[in-house]
Amino acid sequence: MPSGPRHARSSENGKAPMNLVVMKFGGTSVEDAAAIGRTAAIVKSRVAQGKTPVVVVSAMAKVTDQLLRAAASAAQGDRTGALAITSRLRGRHRDAAAELIKSPNECCALVDLIEQRFDSLDEVLRGLAVLLELTPRISDLIVSYGERLSSRIVAAAFCERGLDAVRVDAREIVITDSEFQRAAPLDALIEKRAHERLLPLLDEHKVPVMGGFIASNESGVTTTLGRGGSDFTGALIGGALSAEAIEIWTDVDGIMTADPRVCPDALRVKVISFEEAAELAYFGAKVLHPATILPAVKKNIPVSVLNSRNARCEGTRIISLAPHCRSPFKSIAVKKKLSIIDIVASPMLMTHGYLSQIFAVFDKHKCAVDMVSTSEVSVSLTVDSNASLPEIVADLSQLADVKCEGKKALVCMVGDDIRGQNGIAAQVFNAIRHINVRMISQGASEINMSFMIEEDDADEAVRSLHAAFFKDPDPGVFDTEARKAQTVNSEQ
Ligand code: ADP
Ligand code: ASP
Ligand code: MG
Repeated sequence: MPSGPRHARSSENGKAPMNLVVMKFGGTSVEDAAAIGRTAAIVKSRVAQGKTPVVVVSAMAKVTDQLLRAAASAAQGDRTGALAITSRLRGRHRDAAAELIKSPNECCALVDLIEQRFDSLDEVLRGLAVLLELTPRISDLIVSYGERLSSRIVAAAFCERGLDAVRVDAREIVITDSEFQRAAPLDALIEKRAHERLLPLLDEHKVPVMGGFIASNESGVTTTLGRGGSDFTGALIGGALSAEAIEIWTDVDGIMTADPRVCPDALRVKVISFEEAAELAYFGAKVLHPATILPAVKKNIPVSVLNSRNARCEGTRIISLAPHCRSPFKSIAVKKKLSIIDIVASPMLMTHGYLSQIFAVFDKHKCAVDMVSTSEVSVSLTVDSNASLPEIVADLSQLADVKCEGKKALVCMVGDDIRGQNGIAAQVFNAIRHINVRMISQGASEINMSFMIEEDDADEAVRSLHAAFFKDPDPGVFDTEARKAQTVNSEQ
């Protein structure tokens, strides 16, 4: 037989295949047997297109919340309550496995493994119910079971459906610092491990399936990347392997002009820039984890947000330079559970070094500040309403009079041509003239106009702004066909 040119194997030349696509599936895309079946079909369609997928999955929908509730119950001494939660989760995982895996041997092996994992989780919870102290480290260990289990079930279901899938423990690849519950990735190590662990599998045409969100520090102790962090895992793996594309599969058609749960008229944004998507994610659009964009930007990898329940929809493409849009805004995001801290009436106010003392307090408590506004007699800042707020206020009170008000929301309007158009601020505040605005910011970024309001007013504000700014959407940027179809349906 003539020996043709031999293609270098990825694991030999250290380069991932050119057509590599990282496909991240969120909780709703793996929530039960039916959803996992749809996910398998989507991955198979990519393989049929000649792509090389690496799959990242979240825990089944709501599992992380329930694991956190189990942990909190155990830490309060409610062992029975905690074990009741894991007993329900055990049943849910077992049922999904039994429905998905028809071959008796494979099914038995998977169900046994699920039982073993839940036995060890229950042991941790029993210990916690004695110790009564939930550390961030133990919390990460407990929530890690969600992605560890879902990745096992998904990999087995893929194999059953003809994909040569292999489960990979994400904790062997995604290495982070030891900041439990919001660990920061160590990029160079992740790149090295991703090459070592994944390229040999891709050489053998296997489909790696790994859990998102979970990671480990350099000593191998389990960490997590923060809530919603599976998107971040997808982007980190995509960046480490210089993927051709990163796909974020979720339960909506893409990035919409507002959260469709709040604003049912929201339209799909067809294309958006990295910068705009990053602002939206940071300021509360839950559809993307805020850190997702950075690894993609570094390597200029396009990211798509797609709907696993409507796989034919082309979703949203996030690219470095989005086309011009004739309307000023692309989308409205809302961040709730914020507090305003007013620092007032100190003789020191506005003297040299005063602001740095104030920020040193936030730094000490590792608390990010979202918005700042100063006047001659006061400084106002907004922060997440977090557990260390009373301590922050106590420390600030050493410097000045401090007032803290919770239940605030930040509304953030994002678009790449805000400055280029006259009278935008007037239109924004006219649209919400019935709502009391507490703080305003425009300028830190050219593509974002934000303001603080009461949390209870947030949904109404979004609907009013949406009605004002997306009346006549640019069909080059927004999916106006879907709106037309809706109008026709409602008129029939
Ligand atoms: P997943 O589990 O797939 O990661 P998430 O629940 O984290 O999904 O994110 C998807 C949800 O984000 C949607 O169901 C939607 O309610 C919400 N969301 C908030 N803002 C937006 C937006 N601008 N566009 C699309 N979805 C949004
Ligand atoms: N399961 C994790 C969470 O619910 C991570 C994710 O789904 O992105 O936060
Ligand atoms: Mg998410």
